[in-house]
Amino acid sequence: MITYTQAKEMILGQARSFGAEIVPLEQAFGRVLAELIRADRDYPPFPRATMDGYAMRYTELESGIRHFAAVETIMAGDTSTRPLGSGECYKIMTGAAVPASADIVIRREDVEEGNGVITPGGHPWRRYQNIARQGEDLTADTLVIDRPCICEPSVIGLLATLGKTTVSVARIPRVGLLTTGNEVVAPGAVVGGVEIRNTNRWLLDAALKKYGVEINSWVHAPDDPHVLRLELDRMLIISGGVSAGDADYVPLVLEAAGVRRIFHKIAIRPGKPVWAGVGPQGQMVFALPGNPFSCLVGTILLIRPYLRACFGLPPVEPLGLELGSARKKRSPLDEFFPAMLQGSPARVMPMPINTSGDIRLGMQANMLALHPADSGDLESGAAVLCYPI
Ligand code: AMP
Ligand code: MG
Repeated sequence: MITYTQAKEMILGQARSFGAEIVPLEQAFGRVLAELIRADRDYPPFPRATMDGYAMRYTELESGIRHFAAVETIMAGDTSTRPLGSGECYKIMTGAAVPASADIVIRREDVEEGNGVITPGGHPWRRYQNIARQGEDLTADTLVIDRPCICEPSVIGLLATLGKTTVSVARIPRVGLLTTGNEVVAPGAVVGGVEIRNTNRWLLDAALKKYGVEINSWVHAPDDPHVLRLELDRMLIISGGVSAGDADYVPLVLEAAGVRRIFHKIAIRPGKPVWAGVGPQGQMVFALPGNPFSCLVGTILLIRPYLRACFGLPPVEPLGLELGSARKKRSPLDEFFPAMLQGSPARVMPMPINTSGDIRLGMQANMLALHPADSGDLESGAAVLCYPI
């Protein structure tokens, strides 16, 4: 059986761009930016006062001058009308452009003001004190975003600053979901004593939305290969029917439909029976075992890396962190368990979950932690690799 690392490499080998489209900046949040971004001018674009106060010449302070006449008030957005003469200063507000003849701003709370005479205090003084100099953050034409990235609020803010009203973002693939199982009924329907509600339809849609994708079409099929309808014109996710039971016909049906198998089964727990393949038109098919936690783990460990690679995003690297409590090994496989990074210094706390059929799904977990195949029970304080969820 292949390892998780091998499976992931095989999946990444199938990644291809979804293409790009232009959207208004208002719609870019959460999308993957698909263009390089340069600074259109210096930032700050002008020497900017970072405090309300008085702007003057540093050399005059150095030479011992202690009384200044405030000759002009410069508000943010104003330009001064004349350069400073000897013994003169400007009253200036935060965000205003410091005129070329001044090179220090003394905070308002550090001066004495009386009869139009300004007496600076607050030394030691430093040239350019309380001035953000032109271009000190970025100079014009610098590449600010040099690779695809998710449009987080900070990215949206930056794009607005740079005057972008529309941006190129990666297209979102269409995704079909097929859930299977005679025992599985829709939430809201009457549920019989030996039936269960369909968790995965909603679980997978929500999990995929975190990665910028959603379910476009959903079909539920009973455990009967003859009624199975495969929508192979889009990326396809299947839940259930991939294990070794009598009703687990999904791999056979997929292969009969021309979906080329990449792998079936990975040496991980949960999620071992997972099946992945490529459809006739190059679409990926992920068939995940039906237990909801297995579905979630398969989405985090396989579907997310695939989507990120297609979007041009770098892989999510696992973090080496300290385990906050002991953990018993349950199988000879690589075990993934839900955990929460908490405390100061932060430690990895396993979340309550029994087997992969436990409906609690490691709720509130923000990490998927790895208990490696080749290690026995883990002591509190052991180093573990964790994938942020
Ligand atoms: P399977 O992979 O089809 O053998 O299913 C494994 C377990 O997951 C069984 O206990 C199923 O009843 C359960 N299961 C399968 N599909 C779903 C679903 N969509 N929602 C919740 N549980 C499911
Ligand atoms: Mg089933």
